Amino acid sequence: MVETTELKVKIGLEVHCQLTNLKSKLFCSCSSDYRQSPPNTHVCPVCMGTPGSLPVLNRKAVEDAILIALALNMQISNKTIFYRKNYFYPDMPKNFQISQYDRAGGIPIAKNGSKKLDGEKIVHISRLQIEEDPGKISYEGTIETSKSAFVDYNRAGIALVEIVTDPDINSPKEARIFLQKIRSIMEHLGVSSGELEGSMRCDANISIQGGTRVEVKNISSFKEVERALNFEITRQKSLLRTGHRIGQETRHWDEARRVTISLRVKEEEEDYRYFPEADLVPLTISEEEIERQKNSMPELPEGHMQRLMTQYDISRQNAMTLIDNKALAEFFEESADNYSHPDLLGNWIVGDLLSYLYEMDIELKDAKLMPRDLVKMLELIDDGTISGKIGKELLKEMLITGKSPDEIINQKEMRRISDREYLNQLTEEIFSSHPQAVKDAIKDPKAVRFLVGQLMKKTSGKADPQLANSIVNEKLKTSKT
Ligand code: ZN
Ligand code: MN
Repeated sequence: MVETTELKVKIGLEVHCQLTNLKSKLFCSCSSDYRQSPPNTHVCPVCMGTPGSLPVLNRKAVEDAILIALALNMQISNKTIFYRKNYFYPDMPKNFQISQYDRAGGIPIAKNGSKKLDGEKIVHISRLQIEEDPGKISYEGTIETSKSAFVDYNRAGIALVEIVTDPDINSPKEARIFLQKIRSIMEHLGVSSGELEGSMRCDANISIQGGTRVEVKNISSFKEVERALNFEITRQKSLLRTGHRIGQETRHWDEARRVTISLRVKEEEEDYRYFPEADLVPLTISEEEIERQKNSMPELPEGHMQRLMTQYDISRQNAMTLIDNKALAEFFEESADNYSHPDLLGNWIVGDLLSYLYEMDIELKDAKLMPRDLVKMLELIDDGTISGKIGKELLKEMLITGKSPDEIINQKEMRRISDREYLNQLTEEIFSSHPQAVKDAIKDPKAVRFLVGQLMKKTSGKADPQLANSIVNEKLKTSKT
């Protein structure tokens, strides 16, 4: 029996980000805007690897990669070459992927970078490489039981960068935070949009102290990473606990069933028979070009956070949460520019709005909320038309329906009730149905609260709380005499 709870977990990530700002694929002129197209319509002899076709490097991909390298504090190579990574898999029409390599004379476009997480933790980044995306295979049901596989080459040849970390990550949560930071950097640079399906994917190497390294592939979104890692860690620990060995292998994350399954015994590096891509000339990057990209560098998450804090006077914690999701930060700014209490607004966005989005499992762009409607809702709270509690309900409704706060309030009669006569009448009813509580209330403040509570309940929380309180107390006075 091996005690496994204290065993150290080491995780290294290989993060693939599509350069979604590019118009065409990495080595041909096929459109990169493939997501809504029928299968196998964005293809040409180059991305299908027809003999005699020649790849031509999309230079804009290099500019993107330089920006990414700079943002991750990496050393950029002045001369780099492309390699063929050979493997036979139906998603690769050429039977090799044009990629980069850091051994046998290969130099990726950048190496030796780092990214600091929120605390002191630093994740080292060993390399950044440019490569082409393979096609996409889909199955009927699961990979294990499907009778056939369907392949779509529209994605084959799309420009990717791969970011490879050292095994510095020690928990699934840290992995999620790291990936959030990467996504935020990509979005601030404007090179990759995490909102597009499958644009950011990841493979993970996981080892548990005393075990062998296992690779988990096919984690198709950053959202899934924490889930996949948690499953794999539990699986490996229970093997170790029962005295089993963990073999080196590649496993596939089955998103539908939320399990990893064994795919194949892990390929060794030499299985890929890397060799230089002779159809492409070496890529040179001058110091001037690096300097030029440095000067065109847009605002990065760190700077964005500082600006939010000074410009809107919001807390560091809120600013940090906002910039992790660029769209959310922009939503905040657009709202804050039209509202007099940005600090309050920040709390609503980071608190209620984020938790509703999380609950509904949607991105901000899929919600129908407009900045001006959120501001309107807050103003209704400020001027006493609705209570904060009703505000929360309203926000949820606005997210789902996209209706304006006024529209919903009128429709659902959410307006705060300050109609004295109406509240008096309800109080009368409560008093006659709770005679004992009325008797107790004369000497017990708890019973008073109970009666006020009944009034709030009868109005579904819409009674003006102060007014409700005073009406109940007044009525008690008259019942005493
Ligand atoms: Zn093509
Ligand atoms: Mn790769």
